[in-house]
Amino acid sequence: MSDDHDHHDGDDDHELRVSKIRDGTVIDHVHGGQALNVLAILGIDGSNGEEVSVGMNVPSDRLARKDIVKVEGRELSQDEVDVLSLIAPDATINIVRDYDVVEKHRVERPDVVEGVLSCPNAGCITTGDEPVTSRFSVLEDGVRCSYCETIVRDEIADLIDT
Ligand SMILES: [Zn+2]
Repeated sequence: MSDDHDHHDGDDDHELRVSKIRDGTVIDHVHGGQALNVLAILGIDGSNGEEVSVGMNVPSDRLARKDIVKVEGRELSQDEVDVLSLIAPDATINIVRDYDVVEKHRVERPDVVEGVLSCPNAGCITTGDEPVTSRFSVLEDGVRCSYCETIVRDEIADLIDT
C-alpha cells in the first residue's frame, strides 16, 4: 500500500511545517498548486474567520510536491469530498478529533456529480433560466455534461458553482 511511505520519519517532519489542528479535516496529498482550488471548492476565502493552514509544494514521497490543507472545526461532507476528488484525485482525507486522526481515507471519484459544476457551454440547458440542475459524468481525465455532452478536461475548478 503506497500509504505506508507516509509513515516514514521524513514525512512526519514535513507534517510539522503546518500546525496541528484540534478538530477538523486535513486534506493531504493534494497535487502541488491545487491548494487554492481546494479552498475554493470548500468555499473558504477567509472572510468567515475560518482557521485554515495551507502547506504548498511540500516534498512528498508519493507525489513529487504536494499541498496540504488543514481546516479547523470542520469535517467535510461526502459531496465536498466528491468534488475534491475531481481536482485532487490522490488526496487523503484525515478527520481529526482532539488532535487524533480518527478517520483516514483516500478520496474516490464518483461516477456523477450533480449541482456542483456549471457547464461552460452557454447554449446548454443547465446554464439558461430553466431550473435544471447541472449533471456531469466523471471520466478518467475530465468531466462530461450529461445534457450537452461538453467535455472539460482542464480547469475543472473554474466550473465550480460557489
Ligand atoms: Zn452542458
